[in-house]
Amino acid sequence: MLGLMQEWPLLCHKILDYAAAQHGTREIVTRSVEGPITRTNYRSVRACALKVAQQLDRDGYREGDRIATLAWNTARHLEAWYGIMGIGAVYHTLNPRLFPEQLVWIMNHAEDKALFVDLTFLPLVEKLAGEVASLGKVIVLTDGAAMPETSLKNAVAYEEWLTGADGDFRWRNLDENAAAGMCYTSGTTGDPKGVLYSHRSNVLHAFIAAQPDALNLGSNESIMPVVPMFHANAWGIAHTAPMVGAKIVMPGARMDGEAIYELLDSEKVSMTAAVPTVWLMLLQYLEETGKKLPHLNRVVIGGSACPRIMTQKFQDNYGVDVIHAWGMTEMSPLGTLGSIKPAYAQLTGDGKLDLQEKQGFPPFGVEMKVTDDEGNEQPWDGKTFGKLKVRGPAVASAYYAGAGAEQFDEEGWFDTGDVSHIDKFGYMQITDRAKDVIKSGGEWISSIDLENIAVGHPDVAEAAVIGISHPKWDERPLLVVVPKAGGKPDRAGILDYMKGKIAKWWIPDDVVFVDEIPHTATGKIQKITLRQQFSGYRFPGT
Ligand code: AMP
Repeated sequence: MLGLMQEWPLLCHKILDYAAAQHGTREIVTRSVEGPITRTNYRSVRACALKVAQQLDRDGYREGDRIATLAWNTARHLEAWYGIMGIGAVYHTLNPRLFPEQLVWIMNHAEDKALFVDLTFLPLVEKLAGEVASLGKVIVLTDGAAMPETSLKNAVAYEEWLTGADGDFRWRNLDENAAAGMCYTSGTTGDPKGVLYSHRSNVLHAFIAAQPDALNLGSNESIMPVVPMFHANAWGIAHTAPMVGAKIVMPGARMDGEAIYELLDSEKVSMTAAVPTVWLMLLQYLEETGKKLPHLNRVVIGGSACPRIMTQKFQDNYGVDVIHAWGMTEMSPLGTLGSIKPAYAQLTGDGKLDLQEKQGFPPFGVEMKVTDDEGNEQPWDGKTFGKLKVRGPAVASAYYAGAGAEQFDEEGWFDTGDVSHIDKFGYMQITDRAKDVIKSGGEWISSIDLENIAVGHPDVAEAAVIGISHPKWDERPLLVVVPKAGGKPDRAGILDYMKGKIAKWWIPDDVVFVDEIPHTATGKIQKITLRQQFSGYRFPGT
């Protein structure tokens, strides 16, 4: 027997319709790429998105066409996304931090037909456009006055292009399973793989993200997504914020400590989200200037492990709660978040920080388990680690064009490639990427744990741990350290500092000092390059 409820397809543009109707005057504030702070609201964003849809339709773009965006977090970028989705086309976010050859590869693989681009990246697009045969129109996200000379034949200034539309357009009626968005994984090994979000998955992810134990969002919040829209959907905020009518503060091209602080303060931001490197810059700025964060209530930190010292500083020095989160492009991206369950509510001080080093528990809509290499589920004992697998309505069921099929099993589980354990209350902790885990004497050592401890040393700015082959133990950890400006850490001092904080046999066999640690386009430590850099390294006496 079927239920007798309405068919109401879960379509992304319904989110914007709702925001315009119920929260129409709620602001979207942007530090524009041209410089000044600009203000718009959900009603105007919807009106512009309808014009984008109308113009794309007139230009001949159709359902299923991939339309790329190479842009910072701005209101215009948001309008472009919703306009693209509104004709049933697919917004395809490009990460400007990738090498040009990677961008060309990705655009050709996705067969992008048009591109919305920020002024910042116009020179880059001028270089690569000729190598992307499918590419038609290039819409530069600026107005006529700021539009520069360009060698691109098909380029037009966004605001001028929109003047040709009156916005009298109806969103396309689509199947909720139609593709809405696309994002390629950063591809630290092999070619990048395309993740294809659907309208349904984006809407469900927005519901998932809004839950109190997830991002806990409502119309009273002022949210600043520092995490870029080009990286994993800005953690879903571009859909969740309009769904709940929250104010959005878009940082544009500037993510330095001063610029972020200014917006946090002037726009009374209550919640913000980004990777640890952004917060490192902000904390440094606050420490140098003595400024405080009176409006900020919580900060969501993920993308790579949030160092304990960062959590401690935000909470103790600035009264800002830290929510440690884990996720992946393939998961839309939220997977787990570290809000505190009643079972842990009594924790304070170090006990609470221990808990917050974990990546947290999944909201409704994400299932997870940890298995051994044979696929047997491991106990939730907070220590037995294995492969982390997930499934849910906003988790990829395959990559675009059939890549990476081995990561999906017949029961619908997606192998994340992360290694982790789960405790008795359901809190998951990542111990490594499967390929980064250090295998010493048949046992595993977590490089993330070691890195987290090392960055707690007062003279250490950044730390990375890699396995180096060892004649007796197979592999042993090597700690690579970037010293803090003015700091003079030494090998013995750092190793001494680590003693007592982890098992004795986990202590690295050596420490080396470097000026810089390589990072991927999404800000993660690039262990492959680091391993190449130290391929000739041998531990003393081996
Ligand atoms: P991406 O798809 O670029 O967002 O990368 C996803 C990967 O980033 C995950 O599979 C993890 O390896 C890593 N990651 C994300 N969040 C965290 C976190 N809080 N702690 C440790 N690793 C993380």
